[in-house]
Amino acid sequence: MSRTTPDNRATTPCRPHLPLRPLWLCRVCAAPWPCPVARLTLRREYAHDRVGLSVYLCAVLHEAAADLYRLNPHDGPEPAALFTRFLGWARPRDTR
Ligand SMILES: [Zn+2]
Repeated sequence: MSRTTPDNRATTPCRPHLPLRPLWLCRVCAAPWPCPVARLTLRREYAHDRVGLSVYLCAVLHEAAADLYRLNPHDGPEPAALFTRFLGWARPRDTR
């Protein structure tokens, strides 16, 4: 996986929409990650490996849940909301 270095970050117009941990907000648009651009990017990267995408998103959900519940032990996000945010959008029948 390639990472954007500080040097080309200033000159590259489209920076990758990666999560800012442990808040799990997009580093570029500040939307809850995965933001729409990140979802599009992931769909493209995993276009021929939907199982791989689900496995990846499960791992991300696991890490995000740990971070978010640690940050907000008494007011963390609903598990169903986290599932929808990290995994629900990638269901094969969801072709939006
Ligand atoms: Zn974004």
